[in-house]
Amino acid sequence: MTRLIILGAPGSGKGSQCKWITRDYNVPHISTGDILRKNIADGTELGMKAKAYMDNGELVPDELVIDLLKARLDEADCKENGFLLDGFPRTVAQAQALDEYLSAHGIGIDKVINLEVPDEEIMSRAVNRRTCENPDCKEIYNLRDNPPKVEGICDKCGSKLFQRKDDNEETVANRLRVYHSQTEPLIAYYDESGKVSTVVGQERLEDTIALVKFELEK
Ligand code: ADP
Ligand code: ZN
Repeated sequence: MTRLIILGAPGSGKGSQCKWITRDYNVPHISTGDILRKNIADGTELGMKAKAYMDNGELVPDELVIDLLKARLDEADCKENGFLLDGFPRTVAQAQALDEYLSAHGIGIDKVINLEVPDEEIMSRAVNRRTCENPDCKEIYNLRDNPPKVEGICDKCGSKLFQRKDDNEETVANRLRVYHSQTEPLIAYYDESGKVSTVVGQERLEDTIALVKFELEK
């Protein structure tokens, strides 16, 4: 079993790490951001409640995401090899709720990867980020470091690329503020159990992957 959490500021590159981890460890990638965006796209009640918070770079209220996450962990695929949590927990209250859920099921988290990237770098990456709109692909590009071969088109699947509505300067600055005040305290929270491995995000994706791999295999 491999039960992992990846922590890091929005735009630190968690998504790119999650892609290979979920493949190599054969665990579901659980991104509360993706689940919330799907709810918005599907026009669900949860989506309607979450949308305004997300557009402003604020956190969706704990009770909404906690229920959503528990329901996701109840699904069968999370009981096979474990899971990878991305974007959850984001507050101490969420971490406590997760701990309660896990101990009620007699399980626990194996490792917390803390991906560290300076705020200035995150800002520059975010405003240049483009994502493939195909839900089965979701390939991420960066107009600065990793542009698509054809402007606006995914190299992998030919679908259109889009810029996330929350990837603008004002919203990113707000998300960083929220991260530092609400989510960063989780590093200390998990550090007490000695489960945190901090990895400094490198310029090249392959280099960051190698560092994370090393920590996971320890
Ligand atoms: P990023 O990949 O940039 O970190 P996410 O896709 O994880 O962003 O999340 C996008 C938005 O969804 C957040 O800004 C927040 O509004 C909401 N969100 C996602 N996960 C949570 C969570 N665990 N608690 C509260 N809000 C969340
Ligand atoms: Zn694609």
